Amino acid sequence: MKLYLIALMLLCISCTPQQNEKIPVYAWLGGPGEATDKEIRSEFDTLKSRGVDVLMYNGGQDPETYKRVGKIAKEAGLGFHTWIPTMVQSPKPGIDDDWYAFNGLGESALDKPAYVPYYKFLCPSKEGTYRFLENMYGAVADVPEVDAIHLDYIRFPDVILARGLWDKYGLVMDREYPQYDYCYCDQCTSDFQEKTGIDIKAADDPSQVEEWKQFRYDLITSIVNRLADMAHSKGKEINAAVFPGPNSVAKKIVRQEWDKWNLDAFFPMNYNDFYLEGTDWIGDVTNEAVTALDDRKPVISGLFICPDPEKKTEEKDPENHGLLPEEIGAAIEQSMINGASGICLFTPGRMTDEHWVEFEKYIYRDYSASNR
Ligand SMILES: [Zn+2]
Repeated sequence: MKLYLIALMLLCISCTPQQNEKIPVYAWLGGPGEATDKEIRSEFDTLKSRGVDVLMYNGGQDPETYKRVGKIAKEAGLGFHTWIPTMVQSPKPGIDDDWYAFNGLGESALDKPAYVPYYKFLCPSKEGTYRFLENMYGAVADVPEVDAIHLDYIRFPDVILARGLWDKYGLVMDREYPQYDYCYCDQCTSDFQEKTGIDIKAADDPSQVEEWKQFRYDLITSIVNRLADMAHSKGKEINAAVFPGPNSVAKKIVRQEWDKWNLDAFFPMNYNDFYLEGTDWIGDVTNEAVTALDDRKPVISGLFICPDPEKKTEEKDPENHGLLPEEIGAAIEQSMINGASGICLFTPGRMTDEHWVEFEKYIYRDYSASNR
């Protein structure tokens, strides 16, 4: 009898790892457009069968959309997080024109956005900005089908663009330039002066004023932590897409000091091609993220997929670069052995059949023994 029990226990032990072997997989995707419920269900069933566990779903700001799509996600057995941009907001009722951020030349992001027309960033000092965000995310968090709020563009505009984007925009960003540096509105500059005694508009080179950097990290941190309190008060989780780092990239180029954010998980966009790096770099920045958070919260490594692998070498636009099928395994492995709690695909729609074949080989593995 005793032997039988031991044999049974051994059997159970040997079957447990198999169930744990699959790594958690998240996926950023948008919709629903004109899709019917049936079409959405079919798409979600396919994703689930391919190993996706949780959707990071972008469907605008209407809670009803998340109610409808979230119900289908739940029926398909998927987790459902709502992926909605934070500081980037197009003009709409509820947002005043003077809540938009101003650059170092005194230009509003509403009239003269940096780089691309949609870069209409709000000023994080304006209480109206926060109130708008709290109401919008709060209404979405109230939807029972929503598991978590996922923040994106929770930052300033890129004061420095990632190296891989310089050619696309014809820029050499060897230092901070005022036209890409935010926010110099009257409220930000006067609040800063009141706090530190420094008149930043009179500074020869604001990029050398450490207090000014910290002041702006803190403005974003404050919005995140207030939104976190709101989401938690509704019994919902909250997490964010962040730039890699925080120290190597995120703080320097978009002023995200995200290791100070009171979130439930972090999704660094470890998009190696944007930084002209390979898959080893994904391991390095994953390690940096896990270390910065002191293992307190899960890090989900965001992977950027190349939608047309055969054309990658002749493709000029970095938005069409990304991991090739033969790279995706190393990207997953580097993320997991460096302490990631899972990976997130940008996007499943960019995955080719070859990507899925390679992907499947690497998600059904136990990386816990090979953690750095
Ligand atoms: Zn401002």
